Amino acid sequence: MRLCRFDDQRLGLVRGELVHDVSAALERLPAVRYPLPSYDPLVAALPQLRQEIEILGKSAKGRPLSAVKLLSPVANPGKIIAAPVNYRKHLEEALADKGIHHGKLVDEIHKIGMFLKATSSLVGPGEGVRLVKTERRNDHEVELAVVIGREGRNIPKAKALEHVAGYCIGLDITIRGPEERSLRKSVDSYSVLGPWLVTADEFGDPSNVQVGIKVNGALRQDANTSDLVMPIPELIEYMSAFYSLRPGDVIMTGTPQGVGPIRPGDSMEAWIDRVGAMTVAVSAA
Ligand code: MN
Repeated sequence: MRLCRFDDQRLGLVRGELVHDVSAALERLPAVRYPLPSYDPLVAALPQLRQEIEILGKSAKGRPLSAVKLLSPVANPGKIIAAPVNYRKHLEEALADKGIHHGKLVDEIHKIGMFLKATSSLVGPGEGVRLVKTERRNDHEVELAVVIGREGRNIPKAKALEHVAGYCIGLDITIRGPEERSLRKSVDSYSVLGPWLVTADEFGDPSNVQVGIKVNGALRQDANTSDLVMPIPELIEYMSAFYSLRPGDVIMTGTPQGVGPIRPGDSMEAWIDRVGAMTVAVSAA
């Protein structure tokens, strides 16, 4: 199943090039009261809602995907967790180029672990990236994004994929410079998730998928998750030893070699096997 969010907070079932409005399924979500839950209610309820979404999708007229504004498929992640340098060739590239990472920040992922991005940085492909600090280098990073479906702590890697709701394309936009990653990567619109969530049952094995991005038609990154230093089950085991993972939490699994600058006016086209492709415009904030 492919689920998107679009236009004015609508929920869509994606089939081919069409989106079917299944927003009526949102009426089935439990009413929430203050304090709000620290997870995404839709992702948490997905197992119970799937059948209804399928039924609604059959009767809803399809609209061309090109005619809607795609939002982040996850509305309320409790956290956005990101892996630093997690592809072998990107580690070599980063060590060779002081413009990409600064000194001691580059190290094996097993030593430095993960970092967090502000949830306020999250947008969908239809909203675009709005750059700040344009006098400095702002880079694209395309990544396979994992959305957690089931709560867990101390999840062993053998069971890790049972906690995954689905997969998306993630863009981890970054201002280069000496500040902490969490600051440089948390600017409004610097986390892009889209174009839709492909549920784990449809996506299958994440260990051998191609991940790529073009900027203005020129190929920048093109790699395979088989080159990940810490594969997805190990990432989940590692991070869940520190914090609970909850439905809707987003994991950006790291970017491969080929990161490069983007500027206002650019157009990014990113793709991942078995997810699809998305186009994201870059402007000045
Ligand atoms: Mn990244």
